[in-house]
Amino acid sequence: MQKADHERFMHAAIREALAAEMGGNPPFGAVLVRKGRVIASGRNTKTTTGRRIGHAEIQALWELRDVGRAARAETTLYATVEPCAMCLGAALFTGLGRIVYGTPDPLGGAVAMFSAHPVYGAWLPEVVGGVLKAECEALRLRAMEQAEGWTETNGGRET
Ligand SMILES: [Zn+2]
Repeated sequence: MQKADHERFMHAAIREALAAEMGGNPPFGAVLVRKGRVIASGRNTKTTTGRRIGHAEIQALWELRDVGRAARAETTLYATVEPCAMCLGAALFTGLGRIVYGTPDPLGGAVAMFSAHPVYGAWLPEVVGGVLKAECEALRLRAMEQAEGWTETNGGRET
């Protein structure tokens, strides 16, 4: 897939992040793409639902419930921020073929951790990072500013 395609679909994920923010949630967004088409989208819903696991990637992955295994393997996840351990695990168990993210998450991003794991590392599909990085990093920083109790060292853990 070409860089322009990655950017086009990352723009779709960014639109989801902005919609999350407009709705009162942290600006994280994700879309799932198969054969050049967005087949599902998700945005963070943590604040408005009170569900702390309401991450954008999870919202999008729920939409694959009727999609067969071969089609899932042809599906790419676009996420504005490097997926956390929960979302990356969900993407692996779903059997996605590729993961593309906008900006690394130095606090919660799980790609390096999974890569080093003997099983999850073997399951990890192609991962592409840094697509529209500046735009996605600006969104990530806005989300961090909104996170109650967040500091650079505690990763947002409430005390
Ligand atoms: Zn997540």
